[in-house]
Amino acid sequence: MGDIACKFGGSSLADARQMQKVVQIVHSNTKRRFVVPSAPGKRSDDDTKITDLLYLCHELARQKMDISEPFGKIETRFVSLVEDLGVEVDMGDLLLSVRGEIEAGASEAFVASRGEFLGGHVVASLLGAKFVDPADVIRFRSDGRLDAVSYELLAAQLAGPGLFVVPGFYGADDQGNIRTFTRGGSDITGAIVARAVEAEAYENWTDVSGLLMADPRMVSDPLGVEDITYREIRELSYMGASVFHDEAMFPVREVNMPIHIRNTNKPEDPGTCIRPTRPLTDRLIAGVAGKPNFTMLYIEKALMNQTRGFGRQVLEVVDKHGISYDHTPSGIDSMSVIMSDEELGNLGGALLEDIQRILQPDRVELISGLALIATVGEGMSHRVGIAARLFGALAEAKVNVRVIDQGASEINIIVGVEDADLKPAIEAIYRAFTQ
Ligand code: ASP
Repeated sequence: MGDIACKFGGSSLADARQMQKVVQIVHSNTKRRFVVPSAPGKRSDDDTKITDLLYLCHELARQKMDISEPFGKIETRFVSLVEDLGVEVDMGDLLLSVRGEIEAGASEAFVASRGEFLGGHVVASLLGAKFVDPADVIRFRSDGRLDAVSYELLAAQLAGPGLFVVPGFYGADDQGNIRTFTRGGSDITGAIVARAVEAEAYENWTDVSGLLMADPRMVSDPLGVEDITYREIRELSYMGASVFHDEAMFPVREVNMPIHIRNTNKPEDPGTCIRPTRPLTDRLIAGVAGKPNFTMLYIEKALMNQTRGFGRQVLEVVDKHGISYDHTPSGIDSMSVIMSDEELGNLGGALLEDIQRILQPDRVELISGLALIATVGEGMSHRVGIAARLFGALAEAKVNVRVIDQGASEINIIVGVEDADLKPAIEAIYRAFTQ
């Protein structure tokens, strides 16, 4: 109890200078005893992440081609890290054995995981910490999900005083085969480690100072979000506003542990704290986010509200085409199913035909070119006048609202507008709730 687990992303570990910042951050608070590093990331916009180079090596090796070019880049980066930092890691030996395993046909997961493995050795040596190989303590079940025994294995290995480094992104199945989480998965490792050691908080160090109330491409200079609840961040990240891996929240959320997003390059910034509840200040909304390219299947039929099974049949048709939908706003004699254009693909014609044949509606059509905007905030629930403020702002900005959907949780009001209105609508809502 009382310890902090901290995960550092790839850009925080991209070169020796960045790694020095990590050392300072870790040493500036003795509670920071559990460190989860990603593989070194990009040093500049046109650089390549170590993990991407490793995937490339694996692909070349699979085709029995020469891996010298990408592997040479990996080698140069790790060797210069060790030299620049003056750490005692036998990088030459480690690299030689990794190269040998890649060329001998090691699995994709094994190859991809070597960025965290090699980088983890450097970070451990630099911090004077114990290196714990996730292959021994993060156990994947055969269905690819985390085996809960990992918490016990981790707790046992991470007991005792001092600092520990557990590289992110990978673990192993019960046969010892290396498995990885999805891309960006070091966030998940960090959450699992934090939970296993019953940390006081999970710090996620990245290259931004937390979440902003709106996308800066939509609103100029948006305010930062200092406090946000798990529920709010979930709704916003579904709309694409994310600085954190979706799946990483669950291990810590189950035990109400706060997650603190912070900036390695500006450690003095407050960052964003994600927790079960937040103080409801005058900030009614946590943020506003939106995405273009949705299509609405609109169906009208007289007396629909009295026809049992109508909604079920509509959704069955959608499901039969393998389409996953996002929302189903409905009226008395109408129902709509909103899905992303990507999900719908070229199935539109077949979908309309099936709906027509099976449900014989009075009207059915596909309306494309919709953007969805989510306005999210715990402060909105049980509050009079929120909808008026939101729709008043949209009206003033001359944005035509095509659909409205508010879940029963009342922390999210979703509006559908024309794609072209996405930016003006987000700007108008943001201003309405921040001025
Ligand atoms: N290195 C892995 C990736 O690039 C995992 C991570 O960075 O979180 O996806």
